[in-house]
Amino acid sequence: MRSILLWMARNSWLKERLPRLRFVRRAVRSFMPGEDLASAISAAEATRTGGVTAAFTRLGENVTDLSEADAVAGHYLTVLDEIAARKLDAEVSIKLTQLGFDLDVEAAYRYFDSIARRAGEIGTFAWIDMEGSDYVEGTIAFYERTRAAHENVGLCIQAYLHRTPADVQRLLPHRPAIRLVKGAYSEPATIAYHSKREVDAAFLGIATTFIQAVRDGQARFQAGTHDVDLIEQIARFGDAIGLEPTKIEVEMLYGIRTDQQRKLAARGFDVRCLIAYGEHWYPWYMRRLAERPANVLFALRQILPW
Ligand SMILES: Cc1cc2nc3c(=O)[nH]c(=O)nc-3n(C[C@H](O)[C@H](O)[C@H](O)COP(=O)(O)OP(=O)(O)OC[C@H]3O[C@@H](n4cnc5c(N)ncnc54)[C@H](O)[C@@H]3O)c2cc1C
Repeated sequence: MRSILLWMARNSWLKERLPRLRFVRRAVRSFMPGEDLASAISAAEATRTGGVTAAFTRLGENVTDLSEADAVAGHYLTVLDEIAARKLDAEVSIKLTQLGFDLDVEAAYRYFDSIARRAGEIGTFAWIDMEGSDYVEGTIAFYERTRAAHENVGLCIQAYLHRTPADVQRLLPHRPAIRLVKGAYSEPATIAYHSKREVDAAFLGIATTFIQAVRDGQARFQAGTHDVDLIEQIARFGDAIGLEPTKIEVEMLYGIRTDQQRKLAARGFDVRCLIAYGEHWYPWYMRRLAERPANVLFALRQILPW
């Protein structure tokens, strides 16, 4: 089921047609407050009441023209202005292929640089999402370059990739800000773990390295997962080395385990909710369905009249 859904995420024929179906549009609402920035901001204001801060990501990937990348960069500058005007505790998270990384790396660098600079001026962070494995090396090199110029930039890394522990050693000297996730793409077994047991073990190993770096003031670290068992194990490790829960950052997606987001915040964890919005949600939504096939039943239920 996971492979089929990830194949559907990449299929351009389906990408063209499925988002037009009303039941699909209705189902996506559980993960996305709306297609426009105003809906995302309202959602951030609502999550704030539960003690959960926000991050915004406008959906879209692999732009085919630099004018689209230019518009995306302009949009994120507007988002940062809104964050400042409304005094929101919110960050932004961006896919490099949205900024034209496939077309012109230098242009993508200039776009991200302007976003990072504006984020720095208003005291917040600009994060780089991690995409499929073809982009990993380029994205890490891009992060190393931008980190040399800005303090307030973060990078997502994926626990399922065999290469990630080596990447961690490469990144640590940069005093990085890291969001660790399990990984959402379809990758071959030659380069990525497939079983939950192996991915979870890799996640925990990398997380403990970063938790020590956080304690030593050498990194910022977010556990980007809905896996509460893993979060508990990370917290126990933090406790054992003298790191209090307020220093442990957890980031989850809007609409997933909202109850746990609030519970962890109430226990003192630093919890952030990544709010996705925008018109180009199809591949992103299919990856969310692939993570939990039970969500497919939820989506199908939207067709039924009851
Ligand atoms: C803040 C954040 C940012 C991310 N950024 C990236 C990125 O840049 N690149 C990338 O490759 N991946 C990214 N991901 C996705 C990530 O790689 C995983 O695919 C996703 O988080 C599911 O894994 P999990 O850690 O929640 O653990 P799992 O083992 O998949 O899930 C643990 C439990 O959480 C619940 N759960 C998980 N997913 C769902 C869902 N879709 N619907 C309902 N319940 C669910 C289930 O109860 C499940 O039992 C991001 C995830 C988060 C939370």
